[in-house]
Amino acid sequence: MTKPASGPVLDLLPIDIKGYRAGNTGIEYVHKFDSGRPGPNVLINALTHGNEVCGAHALAVLLENDIRPNRGSLTLSFANVAAYDAFDHDNPTASRFVDEDFNRLWSNEILDGNRQSAELTRARQIRGVVAEADYLLDIHSMHLPCPALMLCGTAEKGRRLAFAMGVPEHVVADPGHAAGPRMRDYGRFAQTDTEQTALLIECGQHWSEESGQTAIHSAFHFLDALGLVDKAAAAPYLVEDPAPQRLIEVVGPITIQTEAFRFIEDYSGLEVIAEAGTVIGHDGAQPIVTPHDECVLIMPTHRPRLGQTAVRLGRFIA
Ligand SMILES: [Zn+2]
Repeated sequence: MTKPASGPVLDLLPIDIKGYRAGNTGIEYVHKFDSGRPGPNVLINALTHGNEVCGAHALAVLLENDIRPNRGSLTLSFANVAAYDAFDHDNPTASRFVDEDFNRLWSNEILDGNRQSAELTRARQIRGVVAEADYLLDIHSMHLPCPALMLCGTAEKGRRLAFAMGVPEHVVADPGHAAGPRMRDYGRFAQTDTEQTALLIECGQHWSEESGQTAIHSAFHFLDALGLVDKAAAAPYLVEDPAPQRLIEVVGPITIQTEAFRFIEDYSGLEVIAEAGTVIGHDGAQPIVTPHDECVLIMPTHRPRLGQTAVRLGRFIA
């Protein structure tokens, strides 16, 4: 265990992924395995955010164990490798991205535009891989310690796949961010009348051992739910007796409107605020109040910034 002078404990660290650089698709750090049989194109993506190292651990397990699809194809991509390579033990949060958030760029308008950044360059390299995927699992983690959350979007198809996986316990039906579309919102994933389905899992705290395990479990449950791998190959990595899943419906994201946003407590996520009208923070002079009873706080930010999401508010659905 290592710990910078002040900051989080670093139990789960980046691994060396240089051996995966060449890939086999002509795109660095992208591997595709085709079964030669009919079936869906399945994509598991890691390192959308460079400091979220659990996904790299999961892809390494898939690659080192030669996990291959028995139908359709399986693509494994390490997305923002430039940010990952910049990981600094003394400032681990800094390697989230190089120039900008890779996960706010996913519309044709932005990707076809003239703007340049390290993240746009990489997104333009892998957009074809994302576009051709029928199913996507995008593996993330969180700054604050919180149980894993599966963000399944608002469409029924996302909910269905999240529950077919059987893990994690908490499934969040969320509409995304005002600041820009995520990879999981790209193209046909966002349409409700298509089968293409994307899930985003937040595995837990960025550098906790448990997040690494959660990432590995989720990758195998995803492949198992899609019938892409032999049960025997997946079995060692599946959770025995997972807790029953619960759905949280996001009522609304709170987008930060001023330079002076603050929460009144150190929330870390999944807190349930009993009464409607409870003040949970202030955005400048404006109080932020819970809109309904039993309001669940989802992924409160630890670093409020104008235009970004402060927190998503939701409710458990029976
Ligand atoms: Zn992330």
